[in-house]
Amino acid sequence: MSNILTDTHIDVENIRKEFQVLHQEVNGKPLVYFDNAATNQKPQRVIDALVHYYQNDNANIHRGAHTLADRATAKFEETRKAVQAFIGANEAEEIIFTKGTSESINLVASSWGRKFLNEGDEVLISTMEHHSNIVPWQMICKERGATLKVMPINEAGEIILEEVEKLLSEKTKMVAVNHASNTLGTINPIEKLAKMAHAVGAKILVDGAQSTSHLEVNVKDLNVDFFASSAHKMYGPTGLGFLYGKRGILEKMPPYQGGGEMIKDVSFTETTYNDIPYKFEAGTPSIADVIAFKQAIDFINELGKENIAAYEQELLAYGTAQLMQIDRVRIIGTAKEKVSVISFEVEGIHHFDLGMWLDAKGIAVRTGHHCTQPLMDHYCIEGTTRASFAVYNTKSEIDTFVVALKDIITKF
Ligand code: PMP
Repeated sequence: MSNILTDTHIDVENIRKEFQVLHQEVNGKPLVYFDNAATNQKPQRVIDALVHYYQNDNANIHRGAHTLADRATAKFEETRKAVQAFIGANEAEEIIFTKGTSESINLVASSWGRKFLNEGDEVLISTMEHHSNIVPWQMICKERGATLKVMPINEAGEIILEEVEKLLSEKTKMVAVNHASNTLGTINPIEKLAKMAHAVGAKILVDGAQSTSHLEVNVKDLNVDFFASSAHKMYGPTGLGFLYGKRGILEKMPPYQGGGEMIKDVSFTETTYNDIPYKFEAGTPSIADVIAFKQAIDFINELGKENIAAYEQELLAYGTAQLMQIDRVRIIGTAKEKVSVISFEVEGIHHFDLGMWLDAKGIAVRTGHHCTQPLMDHYCIEGTTRASFAVYNTKSEIDTFVVALKDIITKF
């Protein structure tokens, strides 16, 4: 794919050739896919890898004494190494495959939380968390007698660090925060938050669902204890994600689920557990998806995270400027640092209706609370319409979207 880049620029027309799904009509109009924060589309190489695996290599991994099992195992473990390099982890063993960001956070809340949270302890999350980074903490806090506290945000949708300072104390055991907000687009100052959390002896978990395909992520530079993300938001398969954890912490945590793979020895009286990461990977994983995920990581790496970020920032600036000029449109989430997500309200038009009318014009956006109901409560709204861009989107698609939006607004 070396011809996909022209200098440091993204050759979007060439990239789009890898995405057959984009080349279709929806309701008689060329598809404009602006629902990338929910899930982005998959390049052909990811789809080919899934088919190739089932056609040629299908076998269960790790315990096989035959060629296919060895081949499948080697490819599976190659992806673990690719994720390690992608996020700058020290070791491949610090990468655990899960069903996605939600499961990764549940794993930490459940395993780490049950061992390290006690009565009177506090877990600190932010106002802009996805339900996946609220509910698991609520559940474990209730079980352990700990308290869930919330970092406030300003009107633009940025965490107020001075207030965080006041909320942190020796009672804080975990700070759980997203790297980028799926609703507002805000990029959070993770390096600073990690320093602040560590200063009071707390751990920090970062929900990276909205950052890994848009930003440079290096868990060592950020100095985070846990980092979670989903493959399907990184041009990879659905139902797959990973959890990064520092070795020293993962080794102290009890298993999350029991079953095959996560053991060394089992008798009816006692079980000894496997080493990390296998201790946390009970049962047969989604082998084909893990193998295909490597292709998605290669896709991002070949384009270059910096190039992707620069291009998406162009789309974000272009889209924001146009939306700001439309009467009755209010953008929710105006942080200085944002990923390519634009959430907005249109005065007098319900977001569900707007989503439907845009779909009638071939434009896919997401409407509703985006799994951030407490954030909607903060802004005293029920939901928004959200347009979110990926590397294969174009300014001309934004033009189409803006024309459609203006047309709908003038009619209603
Ligand atoms: N956190 C954020 C910020 C998200 O955007 C999402 C997905 N919308 C999740 C967590 C959950 O990801 P998954 O459904 O893949 O577990």
